Amino acid sequence: SGKCDMAMAILNNFRVKCDTPIEKLKKVADAMIKAMNDGLVSEGSSELKMLNSHVKKLPTGVEKGLFYALDLGGTNFRVLRVQLGGTEERVVNQQSDEGSIPPALMTGSSEELFGHIAKALKKFVDTEGEEGFHHASGRQRELGFTFSFPVKQLSISSGTLIKWTKGFNIKDMVGQDVVGELNNAIKDVGLDMRVSALVNDTIGTLARGRYDDPDVIAAVILGTGTNAAYVEQANDTTRVINMEWGNFESPHLPQTEYDKALDAESLNPGEQIFEKMISGMYLGDIVRRVLCSMAGEADFFGDTVPPKLNSQLSTSDMSAMHHDTSSDLRVVGSKLKDVLEISNTSLKMRKVIVEVCDIVATRGARLSAAGIFGILKKLGRDTMKDGETQKPAVIALDGRLYKDYDKFSCCMKRTLKELLGKEVADNIVDIQHFNDGSGIGAALLAASHSQSE
Ligand code: ADP
Ligand code: MG
Repeated sequence: SGKCDMAMAILNNFRVKCDTPIEKLKKVADAMIKAMNDGLVSEGSSELKMLNSHVKKLPTGVEKGLFYALDLGGTNFRVLRVQLGGTEERVVNQQSDEGSIPPALMTGSSEELFGHIAKALKKFVDTEGEEGFHHASGRQRELGFTFSFPVKQLSISSGTLIKWTKGFNIKDMVGQDVVGELNNAIKDVGLDMRVSALVNDTIGTLARGRYDDPDVIAAVILGTGTNAAYVEQANDTTRVINMEWGNFESPHLPQTEYDKALDAESLNPGEQIFEKMISGMYLGDIVRRVLCSMAGEADFFGDTVPPKLNSQLSTSDMSAMHHDTSSDLRVVGSKLKDVLEISNTSLKMRKVIVEVCDIVATRGARLSAAGIFGILKKLGRDTMKDGETQKPAVIALDGRLYKDYDKFSCCMKRTLKELLGKEVADNIVDIQHFNDGSGIGAALLAASHSQSE
């Protein structure tokens, strides 16, 4: 029928616009390298901030003692503690707890946000003894704080917020010392603890990777947002750089009208363009926008646009539909019904919806592979060198988009292999997932930068 043809035309058009052939991805990687180099030369000369993390000592395994971490990412926050036993015993014990952030606190005041978090941290610390952790008496407890927003570090344990990203927008905090705000809240709840390391999730994950494997050279986050960090060796100095790659932008990125509308209606229009094509906060919304256009322009779901199509589709619901292996696409049917209140969909319609999910996830996964390829190429780790034994370059990954969205992570790994070629991919490049890497890594950095030695 005409309606169906029109929906198929929208689908086909979208597929073409989202296309990421390997040549295009190589151009994206080269543009990323240029933006990295520009950002390293001077502050503000690139959309990539290339922030110096001020990490002086990546953990090696010798660290000892009890250390805490607080991981504030984008959706939930986690509190963790690890008992480190040094070279032989390594991580003797670890424990974590998760708390949610009421949406109102994401755009309220800093006192409210940090008050909420400090309260949970206090509660967690109070259960320390019951759980068999041991803290040396007379010493102040130390915390690694993972704060995953762009921060200008003043030292390893202080830094000012440059801007908010993802779902946050607390205006009075921009330009403020993040650790100062947390310390005030910690004091207010009567907790005796100091922040020994302020990092973001990429730096934490890199540290977590290093603790196990000295060949880890970079870390990538695929969660609510996306970002990467790597170890930069120049002359005699080693610096760990937080790229803030979410803000990457290039004419080579296959941006569609749906991406542009998403950006325009976001909390941070014009910013984080790469992130908005890749990460968990946005993928489901892109799918929703395409379905909305099919509903409006092609009467795909009947004469009217289902009202719920104007609200939200999460990436986890998108992922559930995308992974539906039943012959009648039962999961797609029930998600449509439960989440979008659309019933009576035909199998053909459900197939179209899975196809939209596939296009969006594939594009995001392939773009993130291009970013990783860019880092490897910049570091000269993308080719085999004749007659040398080469150490592998290991990339540490963390984030639930990577962990829980199989089709996304498989596509990303497949694409990286395509970009590197089989020989390089099989021999000198490796991707390792570190669960809770961003949090545990912050505790490890608090340990390697401990002030109570
Ligand atoms: P962060 O630390 O940045 O908050 P997480 O690593 O906890 O990020 O990931 C949370 C994000 O992962 C959510 O915003 C959501 O978009 C995405 N996500 C959660 N569960 C799934 C899933 N099953 N499939 C795909 N994406 C998911
Ligand atoms: Mg996280």
